[in-house]
Amino acid sequence: MTRRCWTPLLVLLLLWAGPAYPALALTQPADDSTDSASSDAFDGPEDDGEDLWNFDDEEEDVETWATLLRSQALDMALFTGFAALTLVSFFRKSVWLKYVTFVVAIGYMGFAKSQLISVVNIYGVMTGNMPVLRYNLAWYLFAGFTVVSTVLWGRLYCGRVCAYGALTQLLDRFVPARLRVDVPTWLERRAAWIKYGLLGGTLLYFLVTANITAFRYVEPFWLFTRRGSTGLWIGLAVLLIATIFVRNLYCRFLCPVGAALGLLSKLTVFKIKRWSACNTCKLCEKTCEWGAIRGPEIVLTECVRCDDCERLYHDTSRCPHWLILARAKLRATMSSAKTAVTG
Ligand code: SF4
Ligand code: SF4
Ligand code: SF4
Repeated sequence: MTRRCWTPLLVLLLLWAGPAYPALALTQPADDSTDSASSDAFDGPEDDGEDLWNFDDEEEDVETWATLLRSQALDMALFTGFAALTLVSFFRKSVWLKYVTFVVAIGYMGFAKSQLISVVNIYGVMTGNMPVLRYNLAWYLFAGFTVVSTVLWGRLYCGRVCAYGALTQLLDRFVPARLRVDVPTWLERRAAWIKYGLLGGTLLYFLVTANITAFRYVEPFWLFTRRGSTGLWIGLAVLLIATIFVRNLYCRFLCPVGAALGLLSKLTVFKIKRWSACNTCKLCEKTCEWGAIRGPEIVLTECVRCDDCERLYHDTSRCPHWLILARAKLRATMSSAKTAVTG
């Protein structure tokens, strides 16, 4: 296997591994009272004369998969519902369902759960600091969905699930077009590399210092926990104001997680199809807000499966492919009619 093939496999392993301490805080795992509950179960009887050998309580404290599943069932069900909404909106290529998904991603995944993939998840695998599966079932569902959907379809996580991405895409919806600045293609292509530099730099910094706190300075996801220093809030305000003018600024140019998922998406199984007419047609390239179309090629690392080009692909009134087909069909009908008359 070539080195190129190994890169996405390595990223897949890193992302699959799960969060370390700060990401556990971000992902709000199941109440770790289960730990104390289990240790309580092995404590001796209380000698205060009130609760000696209370067998009923002990039975309640015994930790089985059934009790663990019961205590995390709501979280798991809610995430499963959100994942289903994501997939339905993706497969139906529905614009309004996509915006519903954004709202749920911001409200539920963001502000309610603060559940986002973070560079700290990569630190976690480097140190072997993994979350305990039985206490973090909903988190593993979320991480599993992210990895599997990226391998199957590309950066669906960025296009639908990530609360920050959803926030900026929703923001973009309300920004008047006259305020937008189109980044020149040459600059856009070069700037897209910054996020890989940030990913490499952050990982190197962690390897050298074993300090995980840098993650707060390279990703603004702490926003959903509403806990940040004055400096961080000012930085975030500047970033969001800049995003008004430059679409998806952070996602396109700066996000280390987006870079890691971009590498993973090189494994994409179900790619966006292209027609032969795409070799010359520029319609989709102009429509793509992510700079992910270069001529006939879809750049997998940049594409977030937003559906914009796929809707054009199927649009029989706008996509030249269908017009060419219709013209060819008309020509064939006319020539067979002519043959019938002359024959
Ligand atoms: S690029 Fe980063 S911030 Fe943007 S949607 Fe993807 S993970 Fe989220
Ligand atoms: S509009 Fe149709 S032909 Fe043009 S680039 Fe898009 S899919 Fe290809
Ligand atoms: S327009 Fe197409 S190529 Fe561009 S990000 Fe959306 S799905 Fe990907």
